[in-house]
Amino acid sequence: MAQLLSYAGRMQLVKTMLSSMQNYWAHIFPLSKKIIRAIVSVCRRFLWTGKTGESKKAPIAWDMLQKPKTAGGWNIINMEVWNKAAMLKLLWAIAFKTDKLWVKWVHSYYIKRSSYDTNRLATTNRLSTWGINCNTRCSLCRREDESVEHLFFMSDYAKEVWQGVCNQLRLSSGNCSFHSVLETTKRKARQKNGKLFVMAVTESFYAVWRQRNNQVFNQQLQSTTMVVRDVLFKIAVRCTEEDRSRMIV
Ligand SMILES: [Zn+2]
Repeated sequence: MAQLLSYAGRMQLVKTMLSSMQNYWAHIFPLSKKIIRAIVSVCRRFLWTGKTGESKKAPIAWDMLQKPKTAGGWNIINMEVWNKAAMLKLLWAIAFKTDKLWVKWVHSYYIKRSSYDTNRLATTNRLSTWGINCNTRCSLCRREDESVEHLFFMSDYAKEVWQGVCNQLRLSSGNCSFHSVLETTKRKARQKNGKLFVMAVTESFYAVWRQRNNQVFNQQLQSTTMVVRDVLFKIAVRCTEEDRSRMIV
Protein backbone atom coordinates (compact mmCIF):
# COMPACT_ATOMS: atom_id res chain seq x y z
CA MET A 1 0.00 0.00 0.00
CA ALA A 2 2.66 2.45 1.08
CA GLN A 3 4.57 1.74 -2.12
CA LEU A 4 1.64 3.15 -4.08
CA LEU A 5 2.10 6.51 -2.43
CA SER A 6 4.12 9.05 -4.32
CA TYR A 7 7.33 10.44 -2.93
CA ALA A 8 5.43 13.57 -1.90
CA GLY A 9 2.77 11.45 -0.21
CA ARG A 10 5.39 9.50 1.72
CA MET A 11 7.10 12.74 2.66
CA GLN A 12 3.82 13.99 4.11
CA LEU A 13 3.35 10.76 6.05
CA VAL A 14 6.87 10.87 7.45
CA LYS A 15 6.43 14.49 8.49
CA THR A 16 3.11 13.79 10.20
CA MET A 17 4.53 10.77 11.98
CA LEU A 18 7.62 12.63 13.20
CA SER A 19 5.65 15.60 14.43
CA SER A 20 3.17 13.45 16.33
CA MET A 21 6.03 11.53 17.94
CA GLN A 22 7.65 14.80 18.79
CA ASN A 23 4.43 16.20 20.24
CA TYR A 24 3.76 13.18 22.33
CA TRP A 25 6.75 11.09 23.32
CA ALA A 26 9.53 13.58 22.99
CA HIS A 27 7.71 15.93 25.32
CA ILE A 28 7.51 13.37 28.04
CA PHE A 29 10.67 11.31 27.79
CA PRO A 30 14.17 12.18 26.79
CA LEU A 31 14.85 10.00 23.77
CA SER A 32 18.25 8.37 23.50
CA LYS A 33 20.45 8.97 20.47
CA LYS A 34 20.10 5.29 19.59
CA ILE A 35 16.31 5.52 19.47
CA ILE A 36 16.41 8.72 17.46
CA ARG A 37 18.84 7.14 15.00
CA ALA A 38 16.53 4.12 14.64
CA ILE A 39 13.49 6.35 14.00
CA VAL A 40 15.35 8.42 11.46
CA SER A 41 16.64 5.37 9.61
CA VAL A 42 13.14 3.84 9.35
CA CYS A 43 11.75 7.15 8.10
CA ARG A 44 14.48 7.66 5.57
CA ARG A 45 14.14 4.10 4.20
CA PHE A 46 10.38 4.47 4.00
CA LEU A 47 10.67 7.81 2.26
CA TRP A 48 12.99 6.41 -0.36
CA THR A 49 11.59 2.93 -0.98
CA GLY A 50 8.09 2.87 0.54
CA LYS A 51 9.22 0.01 2.76
CA THR A 52 10.44 0.01 6.33
CA GLY A 53 12.48 -3.20 6.25
CA GLU A 54 16.17 -3.58 5.47
CA SER A 55 17.38 -1.95 2.28
CA LYS A 56 20.45 -0.49 0.76
CA LYS A 57 21.47 2.81 2.20
CA ALA A 58 19.00 5.39 0.99
CA PRO A 59 20.66 7.98 -1.23
CA ILE A 60 19.04 10.88 0.56
CA ALA A 61 20.89 13.37 2.67
CA TRP A 62 18.64 13.48 5.72
CA ASP A 63 20.47 16.54 7.01
CA MET A 64 19.44 18.32 3.86
CA LEU A 65 15.77 17.39 4.36
CA GLN A 66 15.92 18.84 7.87
CA LYS A 67 16.78 22.27 6.55
CA PRO A 68 13.99 24.84 6.33
CA LYS A 69 12.29 25.21 2.97
CA THR A 70 13.88 28.60 2.46
CA ALA A 71 17.25 26.85 2.54
CA GLY A 72 16.20 24.24 0.00
CA GLY A 73 15.21 21.57 2.52
CA TRP A 74 11.90 19.98 3.47
CA ASN A 75 11.62 21.28 7.00
CA ILE A 76 11.60 17.78 8.51
CA ILE A 77 11.83 17.74 12.29
CA ASN A 78 15.26 17.19 13.78
CA MET A 79 14.25 14.81 16.57
CA GLU A 80 17.38 15.26 18.60
CA VAL A 81 17.19 19.03 18.77
CA TRP A 82 13.45 18.99 19.36
CA ASN A 83 13.65 16.46 22.12
CA LYS A 84 16.30 18.42 23.97
CA ALA A 85 14.32 21.62 23.62
CA ALA A 86 11.13 19.93 24.73
CA MET A 87 12.75 18.42 27.83
CA LEU A 88 14.24 21.76 28.82
CA LYS A 89 10.88 23.38 28.32
CA LEU A 90 9.31 20.73 30.49
CA LEU A 91 11.83 21.18 33.33
CA TRP A 92 11.33 24.90 33.10
CA ALA A 93 7.55 24.62 33.11
CA ILE A 94 7.62 22.30 36.10
CA ALA A 95 9.99 24.54 38.02
CA PHE A 96 8.02 27.72 37.40
CA LYS A 97 4.44 26.50 37.23
CA THR A 98 3.71 28.11 33.91
CA ASP A 99 0.09 28.13 33.03
CA LYS A 100 -0.40 24.73 31.51
CA LEU A 101 -3.04 22.68 33.17
CA TRP A 102 -1.08 19.49 33.28
CA VAL A 103 1.96 21.18 34.80
CA LYS A 104 -0.33 22.46 37.54
CA TRP A 105 -1.53 18.96 37.97
CA VAL A 106 2.02 17.65 38.21
CA HIS A 107 2.64 20.29 40.82
CA SER A 108 -0.34 19.69 43.01
CA TYR A 109 -0.23 15.97 42.61
CA TYR A 110 3.47 15.17 42.64
CA ILE A 111 5.47 18.03 43.97
CA LYS A 112 3.28 19.00 46.91
CA ARG A 113 3.40 15.41 47.98
CA SER A 114 7.12 15.31 47.49
CA SER A 115 7.95 15.77 51.15
CA TYR A 116 6.67 12.32 51.89
CA ASP A 117 6.77 10.78 48.44
CA THR A 118 9.62 11.80 46.21
CA ASN A 119 9.51 8.83 43.89
CA ARG A 120 6.99 10.29 41.54
CA LEU A 121 8.50 11.85 38.46
CA ALA A 122 9.37 9.95 35.32
CA THR A 123 12.51 8.41 36.65
CA THR A 124 12.93 4.68 36.54
CA ASN A 125 11.00 4.19 39.74
CA ARG A 126 8.02 5.94 38.26
CA LEU A 127 8.26 4.13 34.94
CA SER A 128 8.24 0.81 36.73
CA THR A 129 4.96 1.66 38.44
CA TRP A 130 3.51 2.28 34.97
CA GLY A 131 4.47 -1.27 34.12
CA ILE A 132 7.41 -0.23 31.99
CA ASN A 133 10.06 -2.67 32.93
CA CYS A 134 13.28 -0.98 33.92
CA ASN A 135 15.91 -1.48 36.49
CA THR A 136 14.80 0.66 39.46
CA ARG A 137 18.30 0.98 40.85
CA CYS A 138 20.02 4.31 40.37
CA SER A 139 22.12 3.88 37.26
CA LEU A 140 24.82 6.23 38.54
CA CYS A 141 25.70 4.52 41.82
CA ARG A 142 23.67 1.26 41.81
CA ARG A 143 23.41 1.56 45.56
CA GLU A 144 19.94 2.99 45.98
CA ASP A 145 16.63 3.10 44.20
CA GLU A 146 16.34 5.86 41.68
CA SER A 147 14.00 8.59 42.82
CA VAL A 148 13.93 12.27 41.99
CA GLU A 149 15.33 13.14 45.39
CA HIS A 150 18.13 10.62 45.04
CA LEU A 151 19.03 11.24 41.40
CA PHE A 152 19.10 15.03 41.47
CA PHE A 153 19.89 15.82 45.09
CA MET A 154 21.13 13.06 47.30
CA SER A 155 23.42 11.10 45.00
CA ASP A 156 27.13 11.83 45.23
CA TYR A 157 27.18 12.46 41.50
CA ALA A 158 24.48 15.14 41.58
CA LYS A 159 25.96 16.75 44.69
CA GLU A 160 29.41 16.96 43.09
CA VAL A 161 27.99 18.58 39.97
CA TRP A 162 25.81 21.02 41.87
CA GLN A 163 28.50 22.00 44.36
CA GLY A 164 31.13 22.26 41.63
CA VAL A 165 28.93 24.61 39.63
CA CYS A 166 28.01 26.68 42.69
CA ASN A 167 31.65 27.04 43.78
CA GLN A 168 32.75 28.27 40.39
CA LEU A 169 29.91 30.75 40.21
CA ARG A 170 30.38 31.88 43.82
CA LEU A 171 26.83 30.86 44.61
CA SER A 172 25.78 29.22 47.82
CA SER A 173 24.78 25.62 47.12
CA GLY A 174 22.67 25.66 50.28
CA ASN A 175 20.71 22.75 51.62
CA CYS A 176 20.67 20.24 48.80
CA SER A 177 17.12 18.92 48.85
CA PHE A 178 14.39 18.94 46.26
CA HIS A 179 12.18 21.22 48.26
CA SER A 180 14.78 23.76 49.26
CA VAL A 181 16.33 24.05 45.78
CA LEU A 182 12.91 24.42 44.18
CA GLU A 183 11.89 27.11 46.68
CA THR A 184 15.16 29.02 46.26
CA THR A 185 14.85 28.80 42.48
CA LYS A 186 11.35 30.22 42.52
CA ARG A 187 12.46 33.05 44.80
CA LYS A 188 15.53 33.81 42.67
CA ALA A 189 13.46 33.77 39.49
CA ARG A 190 11.60 36.82 40.76
CA GLN A 191 14.79 38.73 41.61
CA LYS A 192 16.60 40.93 39.15
CA ASN A 193 20.01 39.40 39.88
CA GLY A 194 18.74 35.88 40.39
CA LYS A 195 19.14 34.79 36.79
CA LEU A 196 22.55 33.19 37.30
CA PHE A 197 21.24 30.94 40.04
CA VAL A 198 18.29 29.88 37.91
CA MET A 199 20.58 29.08 35.00
CA ALA A 200 22.90 27.14 37.31
CA VAL A 201 19.99 25.03 38.57
CA THR A 202 18.45 24.25 35.20
CA GLU A 203 21.76 23.53 33.47
CA SER A 204 23.07 21.39 36.34
CA PHE A 205 19.94 19.27 36.62
CA TYR A 206 19.64 18.93 32.90
CA ALA A 207 23.28 17.81 32.74
CA VAL A 208 22.74 15.19 35.46
CA TRP A 209 19.62 13.99 33.66
CA ARG A 210 21.58 13.67 30.41
CA GLN A 211 24.37 11.76 32.12
CA ARG A 212 21.81 9.46 33.69
CA ASN A 213 20.39 8.74 30.23
CA ASN A 214 23.84 8.39 28.76
CA GLN A 215 24.52 5.74 31.39
CA VAL A 216 21.15 3.99 30.96
CA PHE A 217 21.14 3.93 27.16
CA ASN A 218 24.81 3.96 26.17
CA GLN A 219 26.54 2.72 29.34
CA GLN A 220 28.74 5.80 29.34
CA LEU A 221 29.20 8.32 32.10
CA GLN A 222 31.31 11.46 32.10
CA SER A 223 33.24 12.53 35.15
CA THR A 224 31.62 15.22 37.28
CA THR A 225 34.60 17.48 36.54
CA MET A 226 33.80 17.30 32.83
CA VAL A 227 30.10 17.85 33.47
CA VAL A 228 30.78 20.91 35.65
CA ARG A 229 33.02 22.36 32.94
CA ASP A 230 30.32 21.77 30.35
CA VAL A 231 27.63 23.39 32.50
CA LEU A 232 29.84 26.42 33.15
CA PHE A 233 30.53 26.80 29.48
CA LYS A 234 26.81 26.79 28.68
CA ILE A 235 26.15 29.37 31.39
CA ALA A 236 29.06 31.58 30.30
CA VAL A 237 27.65 31.69 26.79
CA ARG A 238 24.24 32.85 27.97
CA CYS A 239 24.87 35.00 31.04
CA THR A 240 25.44 38.73 31.29
CA GLU A 241 28.88 40.31 31.07
CA GLU A 242 28.65 41.17 34.76
CA ASP A 243 27.83 37.61 35.81
CA ARG A 244 30.61 36.30 33.59
CA SER A 245 33.15 38.48 35.35
CA ARG A 246 32.12 36.87 38.66
CA MET A 247 32.84 33.39 37.41
CA ILE A 248 36.07 31.76 38.55
CA VAL A 249 37.88 30.41 35.54
ZN1 LIG B 1 22.69 6.88 42.90
